[in-house]
Amino acid sequence: RARVSTRVAAIAESATLAVDAKAKALKAAGRPVIGFGAGEPDFPTPDYIVEAAVRAAQDPANHRYSPAAGLPALREAIAAKTLRDSGYEVRPSDVLVTNGGKQAVYQAFAAILDPGDEVLLPAPYWTTYPEAIRLTGASPVEVFAGVDQGYLVTVEQLEAARTPRTKALLFNSPSNPTGAVYSPEQTAEIGRWALEHGIWVITDEIYEHLTYDHAVFTPVVRVVPELADTTIVLNGVAKTYAMTGWRVGWMIGPSDVVKAATNLQSHLTSNVANVSQRAAVAALTGDLSAVETMRAAFDRRRRTMVEMLEAIDGVRCPAPQGAFYAYPSVEGVLGRTIRGVTPTTSAELAALILDEAEVAVVPGEAFGPSGYLRLSYALGDDDLVEGVRRIQALLGEAV
Ligand code: PLP
Repeated sequence: RARVSTRVAAIAESATLAVDAKAKALKAAGRPVIGFGAGEPDFPTPDYIVEAAVRAAQDPANHRYSPAAGLPALREAIAAKTLRDSGYEVRPSDVLVTNGGKQAVYQAFAAILDPGDEVLLPAPYWTTYPEAIRLTGASPVEVFAGVDQGYLVTVEQLEAARTPRTKALLFNSPSNPTGAVYSPEQTAEIGRWALEHGIWVITDEIYEHLTYDHAVFTPVVRVVPELADTTIVLNGVAKTYAMTGWRVGWMIGPSDVVKAATNLQSHLTSNVANVSQRAAVAALTGDLSAVETMRAAFDRRRRTMVEMLEAIDGVRCPAPQGAFYAYPSVEGVLGRTIRGVTPTTSAELAALILDEAEVAVVPGEAFGPSGYLRLSYALGDDDLVEGVRRIQALLGEAV
């Protein structure tokens, strides 16, 4: 018998964390590596949030276990924030506070999927989703939308992939890794289709506050309210408030599902660290001025990066409308020779870029098909320009 269980052995290492780790290791060894791999803001957490955490650490009440589903004050703050930002009411009892959005992803799938179920997964997708789906015994069914369709799947594509086993649709707008944002009309059309066919919607809204140009975030439950009974909303403080290290996320859903997920969490991790929860209360009950400052910086870097990537022969980079990633197609570079190497996949190209230009990017294979790279623009302006300049110079040698 195998030592490691089949299900867990099938889980791949997180490619994004792996790229980041490799870049950091090279950097520690003295190499001038520039990393576009990480999915986190480069800003520190705003002071008023940190100060709330310091106060919380001094309060003995926070030194003890608290309710597995989350501190009442935080569940209330999440309900209030949902009304403020998404425009519909949820009950605090239908909110479950989790260890980051990641735990919410796992628990949402675990709460509704059985072996044999299928989940429609628009690709390119965030690398955690298929692993979380497979761990339940269900299967992800990829629905690919490439650069030609702006990385946005259509209802026709979803309908073509629907089978009697389809239980849920994963919806992530703004998207990691592509930065694509569905319009209100597209969101409503997809939501109505899901409602018509009794398909659950798991909507990951963690990048809701990071949109650019004319794009707007559209909460699917606001545009199709009847979906509330079959939708699980995933969210967290990590990206909005530069709080990736604090590990606070949440899921919102119908009472039976939230109850089931809470039971699971009560045996798995219990409550999220109280100090972090108190910090999240400060974040969510404060205003959005800090995220607006960060958004403006991301927007500036986004424009710079897209312009520089588009200038490379063989690279196509539509301007991302949300999150903090550019997702260029590099199909026009593959098959050409650079310094004696002829990469035919984006994984090979990413390896070449790391070796020769000392720049870390994540290959499209981490998120679906080959042919793409993901570059985070959540890093300092100077590093960003220097890093993309190195890529320009290297790919400029392609023959
Ligand atoms: N959802 C998406 C699309 C993400 O990109 C991330 C983080 O990279 C998360 C959820 C989870 O974030 P966290 O667990 O840090 O809250």
